[in-house]
Amino acid sequence: MAETMRAMILERAGVPLRPARLPVPEPGDGEVLVKVSACGVCRTDLHVVDGELPEPKLPLVPGHEIVGTVAKTGPGVAGMAPGERIGVPWLGHTCGECRYCREGRENLCDQPGFTGYTIDGGYAEYCVADARYVFPLGEAGKGGQEGQGADEAAAPLLCAGLIGYRALRMAGEAKVLGLYGFGAAAHIVAQVAVHQGRTVHAFTRPGDHAAQAFALGLGAAWAGSSDEPPPEELDAAILFAPVGALVPAALRAVRKGGTVVAAGIHMSDIPGFAYSILWGERVVRSVANLTRADGEEFLALAPKVPVTTHTRAYPLEAANEALSDLRSGALTGAAVLVP
Ligand SMILES: [Zn+2]
Ligand SMILES: [Zn+2]
Repeated sequence: MAETMRAMILERAGVPLRPARLPVPEPGDGEVLVKVSACGVCRTDLHVVDGELPEPKLPLVPGHEIVGTVAKTGPGVAGMAPGERIGVPWLGHTCGECRYCREGRENLCDQPGFTGYTIDGGYAEYCVADARYVFPLGEAGKGGQEGQGADEAAAPLLCAGLIGYRALRMAGEAKVLGLYGFGAAAHIVAQVAVHQGRTVHAFTRPGDHAAQAFALGLGAAWAGSSDEPPPEELDAAILFAPVGALVPAALRAVRKGGTVVAAGIHMSDIPGFAYSILWGERVVRSVANLTRADGEEFLALAPKVPVTTHTRAYPLEAANEALSDLRSGALTGAAVLVP
C-alpha cells in the first residue's frame, strides 16, 4: 500500500480546495480504512466550502457519499473484512448516550461526527470510518453495472438518496408530491415516489428547461418553474433547493393539512409571510441528517425500485470544477469524484 495518498483539502472557508499529498490514515479502534473508488459531491459540501456551516474541521478532506472497499480493519472490528464493498455516509459517529441517541433519534445526537465536515471524508484515495456507521453495499454488478461504473452510480445514494428518502418519509402518505429543486436528491426521490404510486410535480429554477425535461423523463407528471403554481394542490412538498423564499411558495401550493419538508442543511433566510398560508394545519418542518436505520431501509429499497442515478464523473483533482458546476446549476443529476 502507498504510504501517501492524493487528496483535495479545504484549508479555510471561501477558498478553492487544494490538491495535497497526505499520509494514508491508520484505522484506530473500531475503524476501517477505506480505499475510495467514488465519492459523490453533495450540496452540503458546497455549504462547507463556502463557509455557510459553522466550525468545520480544518484542514478538511470533504466528501460524504463514499463508495469503496475495506483496505484494512482496525482493532475490534467484527464482521467486516478487507475487500468488502461498503458505503460511508454523512453520519460518521454518535455518542450513544444523549437523550436523542437513547430515543432512537441518533440523527439529532448532541455530540455527532459528520463525514467530510468534522471527520475527514472521501475527496481522497483513502479515508477511515467508524465501522459501526458504514453500510455494506454487497457485490457490484447485480443491477447490470459492474466495477467502477457501479461504484460511481451508487455514490449519490449515500446522501442524496438517503436523506432524500428520510425527507420523503417525513412527507407521510402524500399522494401528490412537489419537489422543489431537481438535482441529485430529487432525481432519486422522484423515482422512489413514482414507484410507491405517488404523483410527482417537479419545480426547477425559472427557465431551467433541461432540469424540467430531466424530471419528466424520470416519471414526474408535471415540471415547471418554482414561481409557477402546480396543476393541482399538493399533499406535501419537499424543498431541496437552499432557497428560503421557496418555503412560502410551497406553503401556497400545499392543501390544508399538508406538509412542507425542508431537506437541506442550510437555507437562505425565509421571508415573512401571511399566517393564512400556514393556517389550515399546514406544517413546515426540517429534516436533519440520517439514522443508520434510514440507510438500511433505503439501501434495501433502492434496487427494488430500481433507482437509476445519473452521474457525471470528475477526476479527484477537478473537485473545484465539480463544486462550481453544482453551484451554478450546470449539472443534471449528480457529480461524482473518481480518485
Ligand atoms: Zn448522542
Ligand atoms: Zn450530503
